[in-house]
Amino acid sequence: MKKHHLRIPGPTEVPERVLRAMQSPMINHRGDEFRSLFRRVSENIKKVFQTKNDVLIFPSAGTGAMEAAIANLFSPGDLIVSFSCGVFGDRFADIAEAFGARVERISVEWGKPVACDIVKERILRDAKGEIKGVLFTHNETSTGVLNDIRALREAMGDHPALVVVDAISSLGAVELKADEWQIDAVVAGSQKALMLPPGLGFVSVSEKAWKAAEQSKMPKYYWDFKKARKTLEKGETPYTPAVSQIFALDEALNLILEEGLENIIARHRLLAAALREGLKHLGFRLFAEDSWASPTVTAVDITDFQGKINFSKALKDRFNITVAGGQEKLKGKIMRIGHVGYVDELDILNVLSALEMVLGEEELFGKGVKAAEKVFKKGEEE
Ligand SMILES: *Cc1c(COP(=O)(O)O)cnc(C)c1O
Repeated sequence: MKKHHLRIPGPTEVPERVLRAMQSPMINHRGDEFRSLFRRVSENIKKVFQTKNDVLIFPSAGTGAMEAAIANLFSPGDLIVSFSCGVFGDRFADIAEAFGARVERISVEWGKPVACDIVKERILRDAKGEIKGVLFTHNETSTGVLNDIRALREAMGDHPALVVVDAISSLGAVELKADEWQIDAVVAGSQKALMLPPGLGFVSVSEKAWKAAEQSKMPKYYWDFKKARKTLEKGETPYTPAVSQIFALDEALNLILEEGLENIIARHRLLAAALREGLKHLGFRLFAEDSWASPTVTAVDITDFQGKINFSKALKDRFNITVAGGQEKLKGKIMRIGHVGYVDELDILNVLSALEMVLGEEELFGKGVKAAEKVFKKGEEE
């Protein structure tokens, strides 16, 4: 018997308090008890989005919330520019295309972030203001790259296009100020930093985005933002909500607010820094450079070990640690270690220790762990 350590970038481990909250008996979703619960979570979630605007909550995967953002804010034929640096950026463009937008894809090399220059250049060329929307991925989970959303948004200046950000693997773990940075729609999911099981999607909607929603002609029914806003005023949802998930969300938000968003953000930064330092001391090459490395998932280049060590399998078989592999063209080339949500220092040390043993060279024993411990010590002193 070995304890399971789920070190993928989502779904992530769920704290016991949250799991217990999910076991509450069912209640009437049109009753007072639910209405006060739903009002409370709808207010508290705004603190995580750092917004005063509405945050709509849907029973869905994160992708559903991405689709909802597209379908509610745009019309067929709208020009949408998608800036992508990986699998999830590409997915956002695919969704917009599926709904009939004219999508212009600007893709950058995987492992690198979207540069401000290319955004600025494209926006400056749009003298007639044809671009209706711009899509960004905050944290590209497939490559372990964090985009600097604040800088990318600034690079757009006062261009009127709606700015839509997929923050599914970052919101609640990485700084993202929806209002201050003027992001019109931020999309999030339950199963990553928010420490919930999969099953809820979230979208924040700015005033400007609500105006666009009034004009939007893309087809929608279940996902209709206007219906969701109307029922939210009463503390309800248009259709049956995922009641157990809402119980869980209430408790997860308690945990988040108890720890404090700033502390959570600092914790993720420190955990990522320690893991990266440890991995480097074990001789691993990291897929993303330090300056744009994700605080929530670390991609490790494993091409040097091809045919020698299968890390995912070895970690699972020997230690019951689950890490993620590479997606699409990165399959077999990277492993991804998730450190998002309910994760602490010892979770980082145990994955490093396990890797030392899987590598099997005695002279490496303790090296990664020690390097990480030094980062933690320094972090404590600061
Ligand atoms: C996980 C993830 C998604 C997809 O979420 P699902 O819940 O699987 O639909 C989209 N974008 C990013 C950045 C993600 O990390």
